[in-house]
Amino acid sequence: MNITHGFKRALQINAGGLAIVYGDRRRTWRELGERVPRLAGGLASLGVAAGDRVAILSLNSDRYLESYLATAWAGAVVVPLNIRWSPLENEDALKDCRAKVLIVDKMFAPVGDALAKTIPGLRLVYADDEAAPAGTSHYEELIAASSPIADAMARREDLAGIFYTGGTTGRSKGVMLSHDNLMANALNALAEGLFPSSAIYLHAAPMFHLANGAAMFALLLSGGSNVIIKAFSPEAVMAAVERDKVTEVLLVPTMIQMLVDHPALKSHDMSSLGRIVYGASPISEAVLDRAIAALPHTRFSQAYGMTELSPIATILHWNEHIGEGRAKGRHRAGGRATLGCEVRIVDANDQPVPSGTVGEIVARGDNVMMGYWERPEETERALIGGWMHTGDGGFMDADGFVYVVDRVKDMIISGGENVYSTEVENAVAQHPAVAQCAVVGIPSEEWGEQVHAVVVRKPGAVVSPQEVIAFCKERIAGYKCPRSVDISDTPLPMSGAGKILKRELRKPFWEAKERRVN
Ligand code: ATP
Ligand code: MG
Repeated sequence: MNITHGFKRALQINAGGLAIVYGDRRRTWRELGERVPRLAGGLASLGVAAGDRVAILSLNSDRYLESYLATAWAGAVVVPLNIRWSPLENEDALKDCRAKVLIVDKMFAPVGDALAKTIPGLRLVYADDEAAPAGTSHYEELIAASSPIADAMARREDLAGIFYTGGTTGRSKGVMLSHDNLMANALNALAEGLFPSSAIYLHAAPMFHLANGAAMFALLLSGGSNVIIKAFSPEAVMAAVERDKVTEVLLVPTMIQMLVDHPALKSHDMSSLGRIVYGASPISEAVLDRAIAALPHTRFSQAYGMTELSPIATILHWNEHIGEGRAKGRHRAGGRATLGCEVRIVDANDQPVPSGTVGEIVARGDNVMMGYWERPEETERALIGGWMHTGDGGFMDADGFVYVVDRVKDMIISGGENVYSTEVENAVAQHPAVAQCAVVGIPSEEWGEQVHAVVVRKPGAVVSPQEVIAFCKERIAGYKCPRSVDISDTPLPMSGAGKILKRELRKPFWEAKERRVN
């Protein structure tokens, strides 16, 4: 199957149904069926042929979704760019993938203009409401002026997109996903009961990030609806849910925390919101408990995955983490492998470990990436015998539930003991004064690394480092407790995908150590 098969499915089963809601703009699948082949024709008129890369740098919009579909219709390769990147990082990515066309919205038009001057041959498309700047084609004019083209009908194994990883642990890598990879994930999600035909799904997380972006492929298969907000804010989510009767949304844990701690939540009707899928980074139990209490109509499903897995590997359903599931400690699990994805835990020699033993999580299935774009060594390190090595530490229980304990890069080795930063964060986050926290390893003469916590207070709350440490000592073993705590009122540094950038929190400490050593 390719993406165009998916699109045709939506046209076949729900042509008159609502495909997109963006502000006051609403379009049916039939309307998309008119617009997308014309936009594909427009891309072709700019020189885009099958296999060429079409990059997008834009906040969320209906045109973002259409651009994904039109690129696939033309047999080209979509490259969604991270909206938090600096102009230099954008330039690197565009040169790395050798994009022919860059689609920008109003916000990124000046960046696009500067990039077109430094990258010879790059054509710009302006996808917003105003007239396009000089030298740039206007998205709507392209649709109006172009004839629809016949779908290129990419083969299932053809490259459909290059998706840059979140850049949480270091420099982003371009993940090559085929049509088959993306549609396998869509089918796996449908098999798990996500995105039914009645779904009114809210794109609240950025569309460039596959954690959210992948929803649009699954919604093709069911003919469900996409409600799109420009960017995440708690206010925008509340307003969209109430107005458009949203039924499902994917939120990363920091977004859930901001939403459920928002004073206006109580005055909004959130009763249509039947499911929140959360994932992309660990959630603390305290935040999950607050969320379950604040949204009584909503069922929570955790998904664990990564861009390299298109992106879902495991899912934890509502009935598995409440009631009896909670008593069994299942609320700490990331869930079980999805239908088409196998998951195993292996040791440093790549041998499977017994259940309950921590090792590296590896996954195999049609959703596993083709490789990293033009990085054969890194691909070879990540894909061994068809198994994607995730770089995440975890264990599996006897019933196949996978527990993600930490990124291998975030684990702290203090005095020879392994400390999982997420376990410490869980303890700290239970303190009533704590809005957000992150735990990192910092250099220590005595322990090699020491556990350090950065705590963001709830507005008006008072808490001292000593109190945080004493609070943890009641909950977790002494060697896991923070030895130092920074209390702050400013939000933690975040990636474009809404993940806490622990490397930035660690950096000053390790740089200071280097200065001392040199
Ligand atoms: P980079 O690879 O560039 O450092 P990244 O790993 O954040 O960035 P993504 O592909 O967006 O890029 O994220 C995948 C990672 O997110 C996983 O490897 C895992 O560490 C984390 N993750 C995803 N889902 C969960 C979850 N449910 N619980 C805990 N961690 C999760
Ligand atoms: Mg990664």
